[in-house]
Amino acid sequence: MMKIVVLPGDGIGPEIISNTLKVLKAVSKKFKFEIAFEEHLIGGCAIDKYDNPFPPLTQKACLQADSILLGAVGGPKWDKVVSEKRPEAGLLNLRKTMNAFANLRPAHVYPQLASASSIKQEVLGNNLDIMVVRELTGGAYFGDKGRKKYENGEKAWDLMMYNTEEIERVAHVAFKTAGLRKGKVMLVDKANVLESSKLWRETVTKLATNYPEIELKYMYVDNAAMQLIRDPKQFDVILTENLFGDILSDEASMLTGSLGMLPSASLGFGKNGIYEPIHGSAPDIAGQDKANPIATILSGAMMLLYSFDMKKESDAILQAVSNVLDMGYRTPDIIQPEMKLVGTEEMGNLIAAQIV
Ligand code: NAD
Repeated sequence: MMKIVVLPGDGIGPEIISNTLKVLKAVSKKFKFEIAFEEHLIGGCAIDKYDNPFPPLTQKACLQADSILLGAVGGPKWDKVVSEKRPEAGLLNLRKTMNAFANLRPAHVYPQLASASSIKQEVLGNNLDIMVVRELTGGAYFGDKGRKKYENGEKAWDLMMYNTEEIERVAHVAFKTAGLRKGKVMLVDKANVLESSKLWRETVTKLATNYPEIELKYMYVDNAAMQLIRDPKQFDVILTENLFGDILSDEASMLTGSLGMLPSASLGFGKNGIYEPIHGSAPDIAGQDKANPIATILSGAMMLLYSFDMKKESDAILQAVSNVLDMGYRTPDIIQPEMKLVGTEEMGNLIAAQIV
């Protein structure tokens, strides 16, 4: 029995999660496996009940779960609370608790939605599919930081430091991910300037000998930012450190042009992972049956693949989403002329109904 902790969170979180559970239940019925969902509070709703965005009850359940499915947290109601009690602090705490050091963000352009991208269709090609594997717990965001006055003003620093183990563990994730895809890893760094990048290159190059079936290439980050716009089709898996990955994963996701379609996974050691859409809690449309549940449904598909090695079950979800888009159904965020407008609930029902 798979034990999944479900954290709907705030805003549109509960709506997108309940529709994802519909789809996961349909998959478990079709492929005959058992799945148990246990719901807990995180973010603003947890602050309201426990005065804590990541209460001990939620933390304990997450540590005992096989995997975690998250909606989104935050909203104007909690904007004024002190920073350690903000909903986002719950999210950071969750990632820390689960030691989630590898962030996987696919940028997949569905052919049915290619016109939503601001990039020309001939540049995107057919079915563009890139995976950014970003190191999530090291580098400049976590290194020593500080400020010091000097005679002409102030200086400030953020240390970008990595050790071999931090690089190796996320590189393993990238090589294994490439093995499930087209078998290509592009290491993105700034090894012509940064010492930390030189260590990344040496370490990843050495590690690559364990994965002879995977092609490893290197690219400087400034060139990668340009190539993502010029010729995105050349990429399969992009492996990079935290700061570069933060920027490049946002750039890659915007190739698709639709925030409501983009899932993500944050993986630690073992099989456990946190699966969530990349968008926020969209308070402007919460409770109105307008949210696109597809990013969360696709996060569920990533969970089956990465936490449970269930490729055909995961593929069934991808196919169901594609079928529903082919049938012309769209939520308001991705509506196009002559397409059929549906709400969150109907989109969830249509996708679940394709899994038979
Ligand atoms: P947002 O992603 O919530 O919304 C940006 C815009 O995209 C809004 O117009 C929204 O309506 C729309 N949108 C987002 N998801 C959608 C979906 N599934 N379907 C249709 N439209 C969708 O970003 P924001 O407005 O900057 O932030 C709102 C709140 O979410 C804030 O409190 C922020 O801190 C929080 N946030 C949380 C996460 C997270 O939980 N991982 C991430 C980003 C922002």
